[in-house]
Amino acid sequence: MVIENNKLADIYDLAKQRDPHKPEFHQALSELLISLQPVIEKNPELCTRDILERLIEPERLIQFRVAWRDRNCETRVNRGYRVQFNSAIGPYKGGLRFHPSVNSSVIKFLGFEQTFKNSLTGLPLGSAKGGSDFSPRGKTDDEIMSFCQSFMSELFRHIGASTDIPAGDIGVGNREIGYLYGEYCRLMNISEGTMTGKGVFAGGSMMRTEATGYGLCYFAEEMLTRLRNTSLKDKKVVVSGSGNVAIYAIEKAQEFGAKVLTASDSGGYIIDEEGIDLPLLKQIKEKERLRIKEYVVRKPSAVYYEGCEGIWSVPCDVVMPCATQNEINKQDMEILLRNGAIALLEGSNMSCTYDAVKMISQEDILYVPSKAANAGGVAVSGLEMSQNAGHIFWSRDRVDKMLQDIMRNIFDNCMKASEEYGHAGNLLMGANIAGYIKVAKAMKWQGVI
Ligand code: NDP
Repeated sequence: MVIENNKLADIYDLAKQRDPHKPEFHQALSELLISLQPVIEKNPELCTRDILERLIEPERLIQFRVAWRDRNCETRVNRGYRVQFNSAIGPYKGGLRFHPSVNSSVIKFLGFEQTFKNSLTGLPLGSAKGGSDFSPRGKTDDEIMSFCQSFMSELFRHIGASTDIPAGDIGVGNREIGYLYGEYCRLMNISEGTMTGKGVFAGGSMMRTEATGYGLCYFAEEMLTRLRNTSLKDKKVVVSGSGNVAIYAIEKAQEFGAKVLTASDSGGYIIDEEGIDLPLLKQIKEKERLRIKEYVVRKPSAVYYEGCEGIWSVPCDVVMPCATQNEINKQDMEILLRNGAIALLEGSNMSCTYDAVKMISQEDILYVPSKAANAGGVAVSGLEMSQNAGHIFWSRDRVDKMLQDIMRNIFDNCMKASEEYGHAGNLLMGANIAGYIKVAKAMKWQGVI
């Protein structure tokens, strides 16, 4: 995987010159540019008027101070971010991440990726991302509330139901959305669904909690059926993470008849050869908010390993990384391939390092990049926006059906683009090309802005 086209290579150099300290952004950009080589050759008009140069530059990047008080009344200061990346096809939309690793490079790569993911959903959604280097882990409820209120006391100026609609991501679940949205409504004296992922009792959509993990499995099922004449049934699946995406990927994979062997958190991972006991996992992670090692205390037949490195050496058919970026490197990929994995779908954003993606693209394993595989979450957020705008509420079955249709359409569009541009069946190329073309057409149509 090398950027051969001179124009695309120049764009990559420009981005590196402008932002020399943003490695995650460079990685996401290079993966996109390599896929765009056939587009620039076949449809050069989709790269005129500096569309690419404009596309890699966020429309707005906001950084702000978040001061709050902890349980001892000590003042704490964190950094808040919101990148409003691209509004060519709709209002800015993307999650908020609270994690100590958050910095402007992480936020910029996430916002950039969101542009193509949101385009792939087929919904009119522009892109954004935000968050803070605040860690919710070990904090009391009151501390979380205090932080969220302070964070929103700046963010509220920049968002709105038709402008920018944040949602959750790592460290921002239903509890944090509640505190953030409550503060937004208080400050604005308005209740108009400016955030998604809300409780269903407060304008949230059915199925938003499950959407990313379920969508991942709907994509997997469609792909395995259509490209390998098989399904998730009886497959051994390795899942990382034990947060929102992981838990609902495990739930749907099990419903499809797969045996899920693993789950993890940043401390370590568990292997349960009998298949993950989902009610137990939910009790530990969702209700009691404990560490994953508690699982083996309550189910001694499972095994716990300190550290996350070894999880990819567990033999499996299907791989679903659902924790964080760059969690699979080249060495992990070698092991997965040696052990005979047939498919890898990225539940987490940019789960694989550049070298791992390079290796996978030369092998006969089905690989789905996050912008396609985990788009179910933002898609149902889009459906939540529609319900809020129309002051209506759709049933779980209706939203589930729409999610399935959206994931099937994403698969179809990725396949179609991969065929049209000479890389039939390469879903990495297909996702990048299909995601790009829609945004590029909109930017061209709107002129230089
Ligand atoms: P959660 O906060 O609910 O869960 C994250 C999980 O990943 C936790 O188990 C966490 O462990 C683990 N984790 C986080 N950082 C690391 C790390 N550096 N090393 C090892 N493990 C880590 O987040 P989500 O499930 O919402 O998000 C997971 C991924 O999915 C992210 O990449 C996110 O961007 C992506 N995503 C999420 C969507 C959503 O709808 N929620 C939509 C689309 C993508 P610990 O508790 O120990 O930190």
